[in-house]
Amino acid sequence: MRLDVVTIFPDYLAPLDLSLIGKARRDGILDVRVHDLRDFAHDRHRSVDDSPFGGGAGMVMTPGPWAAALDHVVASGPTEDAVVPHLVVPGPGGVPFTQALARRLAAEPWLAFACGRYEGIDERVYEHAQERMPVTVVSLGDYVLNGGEVAVLAMVEAVGRLLPGVVGNAESLVEESHEGGLLEYPVYTRPARWEDGGILREVPPVLLSGDHAAIAAWRHEQRVARTAARRPDLLPASATTGALEDLDVR
Ligand code: SAM
Repeated sequence: MRLDVVTIFPDYLAPLDLSLIGKARRDGILDVRVHDLRDFAHDRHRSVDDSPFGGGAGMVMTPGPWAAALDHVVASGPTEDAVVPHLVVPGPGGVPFTQALARRLAAEPWLAFACGRYEGIDERVYEHAQERMPVTVVSLGDYVLNGGEVAVLAMVEAVGRLLPGVVGNAESLVEESHEGGLLEYPVYTRPARWEDGGILREVPPVLLSGDHAAIAAWRHEQRVARTAARRPDLLPASATTGALEDLDVR
């Protein structure tokens, strides 16, 4: 998969060299290219922002450098499987970023990300982009960040780990939170009995039983209980009645 990121802070994307995403780049699974928006500003100060028409606080990113940068990204294609990228613009006013959206984006051969700063990007840049490629504004959540870079790091990690060969054991992707609707069950490892400053904390006995059916049933029960306690909005209405109320949930 090819990924282009346009930002005024290329160094912010340095973590994409680390861990599984960094390995995926070295393995040739991800081709990540980071572009400095200021390289497309042609005044002496390489400026990319100006005050908003209509007044108000803050600055707005000017359209010229953005159009030039996005045209540069498009012109650097096509890739083997795509003529243009799907442009993702992080923004608090976008569609929510979910595991389902991560899966849809993971099926794209080429993604580009436009990292806004200040009060955002001049609206005409969206028109310019939409005439050239699919554009989706995506929100990481209902809060405001200083810029799109942190959102891009989160999205690239969520999308990248879904690509074949990125996560060593593909089975570990299946039972995770937000796959199949429920949150994941609690997980434990050695020691089975942990002396924690005078308190003995033990692993639930069923996990040591070797009874795979009983373990699967316990895990399902825990997934439902945890989801009911923390994210009832994820449960189908039928699951929130009856036995659930009797479960002891943390
Ligand atoms: N004035 C904008 C508004 O109210 O919608 C917020 C601008 S914010 C300070 C600057 C940039 O941070 C945005 O252009 C976007 O790139 C990024 N950003 C902020 N919050 C975000 C969120 N929840 N999800 C994704 N990106 C976000």
